Order: sequence, then structure tokens, then C-alpha cells
Amino acid sequence: MNKFENYCTDFVQRVGAKEGAISPAITSSASFAYGSPETAEGIFNGSVKKPLYSRMGNPTTAKLESIMAKMDGGIGAVATSSGMGATTLACMSLLASGDEIISVGGLFGGTYSLFNETLSRFGINTSFFDVDEFEAIENTITDNTKIIFLESVGNPNMCLPDIKRIANIANKHGVALIIDNTITPLSITPLELGADIVVYSTTKIIAGNSSALGGCAVFRAINDDADKFKTQRYAFLEKFIKNAGSMALIPNAKKRALRDFGMSANAHASYQTMLGLETLPLRLPRIVQSVETIVKALDAQGLHINHPVLASHPHHARYNESFPNGCGTLFTVDMGSQARAYDFLRKTKLATITANIGDSRTLALHMASTIYSDFDQETRKFLGITDGLIRVSVGLENPQDIIDDFIKAAE
Ligand SMILES: *Cc1c(COP(=O)(O)O)cnc(C)c1O
Repeated sequence: MNKFENYCTDFVQRVGAKEGAISPAITSSASFAYGSPETAEGIFNGSVKKPLYSRMGNPTTAKLESIMAKMDGGIGAVATSSGMGATTLACMSLLASGDEIISVGGLFGGTYSLFNETLSRFGINTSFFDVDEFEAIENTITDNTKIIFLESVGNPNMCLPDIKRIANIANKHGVALIIDNTITPLSITPLELGADIVVYSTTKIIAGNSSALGGCAVFRAINDDADKFKTQRYAFLEKFIKNAGSMALIPNAKKRALRDFGMSANAHASYQTMLGLETLPLRLPRIVQSVETIVKALDAQGLHINHPVLASHPHHARYNESFPNGCGTLFTVDMGSQARAYDFLRKTKLATITANIGDSRTLALHMASTIYSDFDQETRKFLGITDGLIRVSVGLENPQDIIDDFIKAAE
């Protein structure tokens, strides 16, 4: 986990200022005074780099965006009001009616509904595939395919994608690859593996303590003439490439999505998210280690645990090869029935029952009766939601305490 050591240095240095107030300033202003009509004109035509209006950008949020961009090796980032805001921003900045999305792997419930129920109402259709259906994925790509969307870890099915292989398919056909890296910030760096845009819910492990709802999309630079974003498929980007060159995906996302849909981050949430970022490289490796310890101990007790660190998991080899920093804070336990799952949740003393994940505290939730209660049987089956399934997000507690508590709760 050498990279984590670098992040420890980098994050504390970047969040804190070397002069004046060390803690980032919270610029709690919706609008900004321009001072003169000439400056106003310059701000609106982009020649003067000053804040325009907080829906289009805020100084506190800009600081968070610069750290998030650096974290993933992107050329820039746009922070949003929530993780769903980031996914919506990234997608809507590339899509028009008649376009198609290819969605790969286990999908967060909100993203599934966005693709399946909401975007379909606007003439945008999504095909859904399991992580290893490479041939079917490739065969489904048409001239109208604008996005391949992938989660770094299936939540809650715990499937691991072969990110490089799917990135190769996307690149071969010149289609944008968006990766939701909410579960594995720092552990997986999607832009290095061939993705074009990374989206996060910063609400989870990045903020880390349930203090702030937020999201962020990180964009790669647009490169030379062979770049996929310079092809007919993304012809609408031409004018942004002319004005902003390698940065073009950012003004495109701001104008096509942030300005018009308004999923903008607020300064207070951006501040709290930066406080979380400072300690992320300490919290995440500890939790990943605890997850492995807890999963192995509960599996040895005969509980039905789903996590790729277990040799019985279909992606165990991939976990060892491609996920050297683990796959985040989650595992699932199948209690066999809803009644037994409820019994477990009533008896656990440590787990907090909530829909969140990636918190300092251990969290748990019965899936079928909550996040997936709206979904029909067939969809639940596709997403791996069984009647007794509980999702657990491990926190900072002593792992042995969690093991003891869970074994008692499962009795
Ligand atoms: C929580 C979550 C989201 C949505 O984030 P919000 O901040 O709740 O809008 C998206 N993707 C994944 C993987 C998530 O866990």
C-alpha cells in the first residue's frame, strides 16, 4: 500500500494552507459581486477567472475539485450535490435522445433506476451485462453507444470487473468509459486503467462519517488527434475542444449538466468532504484489513459470506491480481431468509442499521426489504439480491469486536 503513504503526505499538505487560515475557507455565498461591467463581461466570456455564481462553481468546492482531480490523475473535476448528481452530470454531458448506454456489472440501485426507468423516458436505452460477458458487451456497441458504465466493485453483489479488458473494448470502439469508483477510491485508479471519467459518491468513505452528502466527477485530458472524443460519435464536443483544448470535458459537463440541471455542490459539504479526504489514506487500509479478517472469521464459522478474498468466490484470482489494495468496506452475509436476517439485525449491538456505506462505524442493512423493495424478482435475481441478504459496511471498530458481535447475532 505504498501509494497510500504518498496520499497521506499529499492530502494533508493540499487541504491545509501554508499561509493564513490553515483550514480551508468556507465561501458561503450564492453569488459574487463583479465590481465593474467590464469584469462582469470578462467573467461571462471566460477571459476573467473569477467566480460567476455558485451553481457554476464555488471557491471552496474548487479546492475540493483540484484535490480530487489530482487524486485520480485527471485534468479536472466537477463536484456535485450527491453521488447520483455526479453520475447524472457525467452521463447527461455525453447523452442525447436516441443514444445507448452499456452498463456492466452489479449496479448501485439509484444508478440502475436512473438508467432503466428515468433515462428510458427520454429515449436513452441501456443494456445491462454481467461483468464477464465480454463478447456480448462488444457485440452490443453501435454508432449510438455513447457510454460504457462500470462499477469498480459490484454493490452489493461483490463482483469484480476486469477493468483493463473492458477499457480495451471501450477504446477499441471509441466509446467513453465511465467508472463509478465510490467503493475503491485510492485503491483503484480508473483513469490509469483506461477509463475516461470517474464518478464518486463522496458521501461514503471519502467524507467517511455521514456528515455530508456529495459527489464528484473526475475527467481525463483530451489528447492528440486520435482521441475518441474527437470523432463523429462525440461531434458535439468540437466547440468545447476549440475553446478549451485538453480541458474540454469540463466546460462541456458544466454547461450541459451543472448549469442546466443544477446538481451543484455547496461550500459546507465541500469543506467537510476535504476534512474526510485528509484521513482517507489512513482509514481505508485499516478497514480493508478488518474486512479481510472479519470475512475469513465469519466464513470459518459457517456463515454464508460473499467477498472475493474467499477462495470460493468466482473472482478470487482477480482480487489477488488486480485489487492489491482490497475492494473497499463491503461484504454481504446471506442469512437464508428475511426472518433470520431481521433477527440478526435486531441482535447485533455494533452495526448501525442504515442505507449508507463507507462510514467510520459498521453499518448493515437488509437489501430486499429496503433499497431493492421496488424491484421485481427477475431484477433482484440479476442484481444478486436474495431474501436473506444483508450488506455490511465495516467501520473503524476493533475487528475482533465485530466478529464476536456478529457471531452472537447469528446464533
Ligand atoms: C451511494 C452510492 C451512489 C450514490 O451516491 P449518493 O451520494 O447517495 O447520491 C452511487 N454509487 C455508489 C456505488 C454508491 O454506493
